[in-house]
Amino acid sequence: MHEMSIVQALLEQVAEEVDQAGQRGRVVSLHLVVGRLSGVHVDAIRFGFELLSPGSIAQGAALRIDQPPARCHCDRCGAAVEIAEIVSACPVCGHADIIIRGGQELLLQSIELEDEDQAGEASSSDGWIHENRGSKEDPEGQ
Ligand SMILES: [Zn+2]
Repeated sequence: MHEMSIVQALLEQVAEEVDQAGQRGRVVSLHLVVGRLSGVHVDAIRFGFELLSPGSIAQGAALRIDQPPARCHCDRCGAAVEIAEIVSACPVCGHADIIIRGGQELLLQSIELEDEDQAGEASSSDGWIHENRGSKEDPEGQ
């Protein structure tokens, strides 16, 4: 399935970008741009993400997907018309002297990471303090 390899590549890119940014923390959401003429089905992307994201850095992340339309610019009549599918002639005057712009994007627009409160020094291996939590009110204390 086409979309599966797209999602696979997406997850790899997310891991790479997060790594390069030197960020820690969970990926909260991904903002994707999938143009209407890209030939990619958003439902299939979501489905693929559900299937492939568990165990990855993007596990549990929300997907926000924008689907920008394409625009057909006509050299003859000057029309600039939004189109939802590919056309071979100007929808206004029928002339074939057209340029189609946009609508084919397949972008990872942004990655939102969970804010970590302890975003100070990056030493997390030792000194992880949680063993004393709640012991102050231990009812067995006396
Ligand atoms: Zn035209």
